[in-house]
Amino acid sequence: MIKTKNKKEKWIKLICGASNEDIVAIEDLCAIYTAAGVDYIDVAAEESIVNAAKKGIEWSKKVYKNSPGLMISISDGNDIHFRKAKFDPLKCPPHCLRPCEKVCPTFAIDNSGIKESKCYGCGRCLNSCPLNLISEYEYNLSKDDLASTLKKIKPNAVEIHTEINRFDSFKKVVSTLKSSETKLDKISVSCGLNQSVKESQEPEDLLKALWDRYEILNELNIPLIWQLDGRPMSGDLAPTTSRDTVKLFERIGSDLPPGLIQLAGGTNEKTHEFLKSNNLPDGIAFGSAARKIMQPFIEFAHKNNKRLYNYPEIMALAIQKAQKFLDPWKSI
Ligand code: SF4
Ligand code: SF4
Repeated sequence: MIKTKNKKEKWIKLICGASNEDIVAIEDLCAIYTAAGVDYIDVAAEESIVNAAKKGIEWSKKVYKNSPGLMISISDGNDIHFRKAKFDPLKCPPHCLRPCEKVCPTFAIDNSGIKESKCYGCGRCLNSCPLNLISEYEYNLSKDDLASTLKKIKPNAVEIHTEINRFDSFKKVVSTLKSSETKLDKISVSCGLNQSVKESQEPEDLLKALWDRYEILNELNIPLIWQLDGRPMSGDLAPTTSRDTVKLFERIGSDLPPGLIQLAGGTNEKTHEFLKSNNLPDGIAFGSAARKIMQPFIEFAHKNNKRLYNYPEIMALAIQKAQKFLDPWKSI
């Protein structure tokens, strides 16, 4: 396989979540991480969510001058990035120590069950219940078709969630993108090794799937990002989850089609420690890990029916924390 590598361009993306509709948290997260210097913010493909993200970005732009691109997440089929969790609280025994509540990064779980708007489907609670009461369900925010969503939102970039065996539906999505004539400065392809299918998928299968997709994306003449997810929707909170992402990158990173390489799905504040300095990806994306450290600040503001940026001192603290979180990646 012959490939020409694009110029190195180290960048960071904040993932807000493909099924996340916690508008208040999205606005604050976007304000905080815009100020901290991310390059892209990835949100659900839904007008109200995008508007919340834009408000947060706008707030930061006035003070911090950074202006990240807005990326929307779309899928060419069923995808765990587009899901939520649920359980019936009436079935919970009163003596339960509530491990589900403890693992949820967005405080979406309380005595009344899971608050749908706060759940973004990370999946961390799914195996936490000793009685197995928690299940997942498919949830796609946008009720509009892709063409009208693109027309309304006008994103800077699009992330297509796909799977190895979904080439035909991927082609349909690309053809809609093409006919919509949306001006995009990046297309990102997220295709991990699906652990749920019965036949085992190897990194080589993933490589072939990405090269197939490159053949049809290439004609659009838009810079591409190949997103390697070590663990699909890992919740990325344990330091060791980073190893899977780095392992996948080391295994196939040098054979990927032309474009930028970005790590996700298992990326957290420890990921940079596992990377070799002579073999670095172009970018990284943070979801749960970036959100979890901000959630207590955001919850505090929400309890008072405010946005965090209504509290300048706490906001400054949150931005400092976000910068500290991103710094190791920026300085490698
Ligand atoms: S742990 Fe994750 S999947 Fe479970 S309720 Fe919280 S956000 Fe949703
Ligand atoms: S861990 Fe299970 S039983 Fe306990 S509160 Fe959560 S869902 Fe209910």
